[in-house]
Amino acid sequence: MTYDAIIVGGGFAGLQAAIQLGRYSVHRVLVIDAGGGRSSICHKYHNILGYPEGVSGEELRQKGRRQAETAGVEFKTDKIVKAAKQNDGLFLLTGEQGEQYICRTLLLATGVMDRFPELPGLLPTLGNTVYVCPDCDGFEIKDKQTVLMGSGDAGANMAFILRERTGDLTYINHEKKPLSEENRRRLEAEDILYIEEPISHLETENEEKIKNVVLQNGVKLPAERGFIAFGNNPVHSELAEQLGVSLHKNRHIEANRRSLMTDVEHVWVAGDVAVHAEQATVAMGDGAIAGIWMNKVLKKLNPVQLPPARKRPSTVK
Ligand SMILES: Cc1cc2nc3c(=O)[nH]c(=O)nc-3n(C[C@H](O)[C@H](O)[C@H](O)COP(=O)(O)OP(=O)(O)OC[C@H]3O[C@@H](n4cnc5c(N)ncnc54)[C@H](O)[C@@H]3O)c2cc1C
Repeated sequence: MTYDAIIVGGGFAGLQAAIQLGRYSVHRVLVIDAGGGRSSICHKYHNILGYPEGVSGEELRQKGRRQAETAGVEFKTDKIVKAAKQNDGLFLLTGEQGEQYICRTLLLATGVMDRFPELPGLLPTLGNTVYVCPDCDGFEIKDKQTVLMGSGDAGANMAFILRERTGDLTYINHEKKPLSEENRRRLEAEDILYIEEPISHLETENEEKIKNVVLQNGVKLPAERGFIAFGNNPVHSELAEQLGVSLHKNRHIEANRRSLMTDVEHVWVAGDVAVHAEQATVAMGDGAIAGIWMNKVLKKLNPVQLPPARKRPSTVK
């Protein structure tokens, strides 16, 4: 079976592209998703149009999948480990158990992942009271007692951004990674409490609300809100690399700004794995753009059969 389009990654970018492509009603579209991803671990998005009370990533993903399925898109749970372009121009993808998938056009929407240690209590708080993105959730910590859990200069740089929002900020350098002298001085100058000590766990209320960050030395730091910034977030661009697509120096995938097609013909990119802001609505926007341009190309590869013209009453000219 040759699909017109395969979308690798069923997060926000992949799902929005699937809805876009499915609604043309003429393409065979398959979304292959390994499960997980940033949109699965964020329990509440607060900055999405129409959801002032917030909405969970899982809810949006489930609704998005149903919406795409209604438009005829197929779904498969698998992790693609190999991607190659064949001599006939088709793409051959190989899943974790060796299953193969073939398509004419390919969208990589594989995302990135935040690197963070396994800290008991942390996962249920993500998006609820502990955040990762100051552009998305700086608003949520305004004037709140905030504890930033992070590592080295990546954490320090996040602390300077968060300090603009609150006068009660503690930065815990969990991995005790060395800080630059300049950052160390600036933390002090900006009255950010700096602690170099591994974290043991989080104490929470109803699982979702952070209460205390407990250090391995037994000290408890009360917190109304939290942030994480450990740096070195893995970028899932391995498939692009295998296909010979150009990567930015930070390993995100480069693409044409207008169409989001990469420099390998008929390979598109959308969402966090592309080069730009890592936000939910940006990922959705990218998915829609990629879907629109994939349709343009698919129409050239497979000219659309016009539906039979309806007979009009003879009075209508
Ligand atoms: C805790 C947290 C809070 C956040 N808060 C906000 C917020 O408030 N506002 C906001 O705008 N953004 C927020 N974000 C960012 C937002 O979640 C991302 O920008 C968004 O999820 C990106 O969508 P995506 O589709 O690019 O990637 P993802 O949602 O990560 O989806 C990628 C999908 O690709 C799949 N995949 C990867 N590799 C493969 C493979 N080889 N084969 C098959 N499948 C694969 C993964 O399993 C995953 O399902 C937050 C992120 C986190 C982690």
